[in-house]
Amino acid sequence: MVKLSTDFLETLSGVVDPDEIIQDQEELTPHLSEWRGRWFGETTIMVLPNSTKKLAKIVKLCAKHQIAITCQGGNTGLVGGQIPQGELLLGTAKMNAVRNIDPKAMTITVEAGMSLQAVTDICAEHNLLFALQIASGGSATIGGAIATNAGGMGVLRYGNMRAMVLGLETVMPNGEVWHGLSGLHKDNSGYDLKQLFIGSEGTLGVITAATLQLFPKPANTITAWCGLQNVEDALQLLSHLRANFFSQISKFELISKQALSVVLKNVSNSRAPFSEAHDYNVMVEFEVDDVLVIEEALADALSAEIIADAVIAKSQAEANALLALRENISAAQKPEGAAIKHDISLPLSAIPQFLQQMQMVISDKFLGTRFCVFGHLGDGNLHYNLLQAVDVSGDEFLFARDQITSMVHDLVHEMGGSFAAEHGIGIAKIDDMRRYKSPVELAMMRAVKQAIDPDNIMNPRILFAQKN
Ligand SMILES: Cc1cc2nc3c(=O)[nH]c(=O)nc-3n(C[C@H](O)[C@H](O)[C@H](O)COP(=O)(O)OP(=O)(O)OC[C@H]3O[C@@H](n4cnc5c(N)ncnc54)[C@H](O)[C@@H]3O)c2cc1C
Repeated sequence: MVKLSTDFLETLSGVVDPDEIIQDQEELTPHLSEWRGRWFGETTIMVLPNSTKKLAKIVKLCAKHQIAITCQGGNTGLVGGQIPQGELLLGTAKMNAVRNIDPKAMTITVEAGMSLQAVTDICAEHNLLFALQIASGGSATIGGAIATNAGGMGVLRYGNMRAMVLGLETVMPNGEVWHGLSGLHKDNSGYDLKQLFIGSEGTLGVITAATLQLFPKPANTITAWCGLQNVEDALQLLSHLRANFFSQISKFELISKQALSVVLKNVSNSRAPFSEAHDYNVMVEFEVDDVLVIEEALADALSAEIIADAVIAKSQAEANALLALRENISAAQKPEGAAIKHDISLPLSAIPQFLQQMQMVISDKFLGTRFCVFGHLGDGNLHYNLLQAVDVSGDEFLFARDQITSMVHDLVHEMGGSFAAEHGIGIAKIDDMRRYKSPVELAMMRAVKQAIDPDNIMNPRILFAQKN
């Protein structure tokens, strides 16, 4: 646990206002676990400065006293990186101003603690689109999304967070400020330093503000839901639709029968799109004005027997209801007991074989396991979630977590995929880093960390924990 000297606390209270420090354990509690209750942490102090200047002073003070820091945005991360284990907790919630919006350049500069939803809403007022949309967007922050290089449903069309970051302001582990905010699209003057911070999970410094690329708000979107027999057909549907609508496809989400069934069972007011349940479903969103061309494309897919059924939302309310079926899967799994979750990506062509092979191996060893598979199929990103069999205890299933996860990640690796597609490493996947990253990759990453944070002040337990 961080030991705070009187000298440190006295200097700190001269830097921030009293309401920017939390030391009361009850107030700290919500910041010490994540929403699924998988990781619990501890700290004696959280500091929430409301400006970059104050934040830089805090980091400088921590560096002087060799006090480690864990950074926390909206606390929606899924790999435990934001949960302190004794470090000083540095929150960005009070840094939530819009510094500039430039509709002509289609950019916005915001502070790191703004929620994704708040940025979306402000952009919408200017008829502009902030394209990163994730189900946690009401709480997840810009800083957190950049630090985790968040993905979500729109990656197929707009790319992940990395694709939207034009410039950054960061506080370095020694307390210096890097003023790298820029709306430039072209700047080849040496290393592109912002890239280092995107996906760094808070290990290289604190992101305090960002200049982000915006897009024109689509005039119209059309949402369709298709029922399919298998994943091969889902991939064929993707090719078929991309041939006609390539960049106009803004979401292409796979939902297995099991994933849909937990939503229908556990989320009130959910309605099945079809009377018959299909082994797989795909939700597609098109940025297209003319519904007739979509009807035609889906009719073609029906007659080619790529899909077994299809429905197109006739109103925004219907589109929202379809989207909710997909977005509620994460929450709907909770009442089903223990879950072992994997956030993986694979080359598209390998996905059917992966699913088939994995199901055989897991069903053989862990009879009755339920395969709650869903994800951003257009990006090859699956949330490969396994729910306990109804007749085993949750503890018994979770006891096999490491064994099951190694089986899943080994096959992903063998097939050229990634064991950490969009949620990052945090503390959850440190062992996987050692297992699957090559010595060359690990050495390069360690060299970067050592060069920028030689005293290991920033998020010291993640990515490069001692046992690495
Ligand atoms: C229901 C739900 C749905 C989700 N869906 C998606 C999805 O579709 N795609 C996806 O990619 N993720 C998803 N996530 C995961 C999560 O929302 C994202 O990782 C999000 O970007 C985290 O933002 P945050 O502000 O909550 O960060 P936190 O959880 O607070 O922190 C996450 C990591 O970033 C670091 N960090 C936070 N702020 C800063 C900063 N300013 N500077 C430096 N480091 C910082 C933390 O130390 C930690 O390592 C989902 C989560 C939930 C709960």
